[in-house]
Amino acid sequence: MTSEYAARYTNSVLYDDKGEKHLGDFLLHDDGSWSKSNGDEDVRQVIDGSNKLLTRSLQNWHTHLAMQLNARDFSDGFVLDRWLNEAIFPTEAKLNPEFVRVGATAAACELIATGSSFAADMYFYPAVTGHVLDNAGIRGLVGGPVSDFALPSHLDAKSALDELDTLLSKQSSTDRIQYAIATHSVYTCSEETLIRASELAEKRSGRLHIHVSETRKEVADCFEKTGKYPVEYLDCIDFFKPNTVCAHASWVKKNEIRILKKHDVTTVHCPSSNMKLACGGTLSLPAFQAEGVDVRIGTDGAASSGNGLNILAEARTAALVQRHDHWDPTLLPAKDVFQMITKDSKDWVAWDLEDLRMFPRGRSNNRHIANLVFNGARCLDMWVDGVAVRMDGITQTIDEKLAMQELDASVESYYEGIE
Ligand SMILES: [Zn+2]
Repeated sequence: MTSEYAARYTNSVLYDDKGEKHLGDFLLHDDGSWSKSNGDEDVRQVIDGSNKLLTRSLQNWHTHLAMQLNARDFSDGFVLDRWLNEAIFPTEAKLNPEFVRVGATAAACELIATGSSFAADMYFYPAVTGHVLDNAGIRGLVGGPVSDFALPSHLDAKSALDELDTLLSKQSSTDRIQYAIATHSVYTCSEETLIRASELAEKRSGRLHIHVSETRKEVADCFEKTGKYPVEYLDCIDFFKPNTVCAHASWVKKNEIRILKKHDVTTVHCPSSNMKLACGGTLSLPAFQAEGVDVRIGTDGAASSGNGLNILAEARTAALVQRHDHWDPTLLPAKDVFQMITKDSKDWVAWDLEDLRMFPRGRSNNRHIANLVFNGARCLDMWVDGVAVRMDGITQTIDEKLAMQELDASVESYYEGIE
């Protein structure tokens, strides 16, 4: 019989789910829990933890993973309209499953290398992305996009929904990869499509994922067309189901925030994307906190964040922009923003305490989380379901070098005639 303990870290530092610090020897269990070690348990691996900091793994709640193909300064400096029409749409018209496999594999490498074991994704060919994340040994809420525009992967919304129906019907609630229904937005989906997607979510207990109120134009256009703001409109057509993921929520009224709370929506703050594309506003955290709405953090796609998939960097940006916007330096302390990017995580990361960015550690060894959020650090180990996805700075589940060679080679043909 194999041991139920994946590893013992000796002489280490561990931060638990509440952000409390512990010093000593620790056991990481296969089910994601942890306990103090007596030193005599049967474990599969004993690790010198003296220079390692153990925390819950990070989560990235809004991504377009295969857009690593469009990273990073490709289209930099374009206004949104030019960015979409001259950079993103012409390249995405060439998309096929192989491009998505290569882009998603490169993305999985970056997620793992920067400490994230989960992404809530929205991109074409979701089964391909799901397969990549599964092979990488991490978790995903993999949303297949639904839109009334012809997509690279589907001619219409109906065929996209049919594929998602099949994917959702085959999954179990305990799978590491969960599929989701990613209705792109109120401006690309008709009312009928939004309602059909919502009905599918109810039928299959699946989650919805949608861009909401990202720009003022989207909000103004929705009001002109329906007489309602986007969140009110979605409420009115009974779109929301529990745990719907709403990315951005930048331009919303207080009444809309109350609607999001009423439906137990998870909202995703994507400050880098909002600033890089000059959307003129970003999620107003104090108002969401006042209503008790669940708020997470996401990078958005690599092409729109300018910051790749590094969620620690995005957490830092969130802390800075919230303080800046509200003239309040007490907003979003490092330990709070760290809770936002690790909430409900079942996995573990060991960070390199020798990394120069982790110094100074403070007189009572109390600066770890602030150093991580504001400076970053090397991710050495990652554990998911008792499996070492990364060990001593080397990802075990993907050949990173090969993945980057494939990305470079694919980009050659992906950009041909465009860049
Ligand atoms: Zn997005």
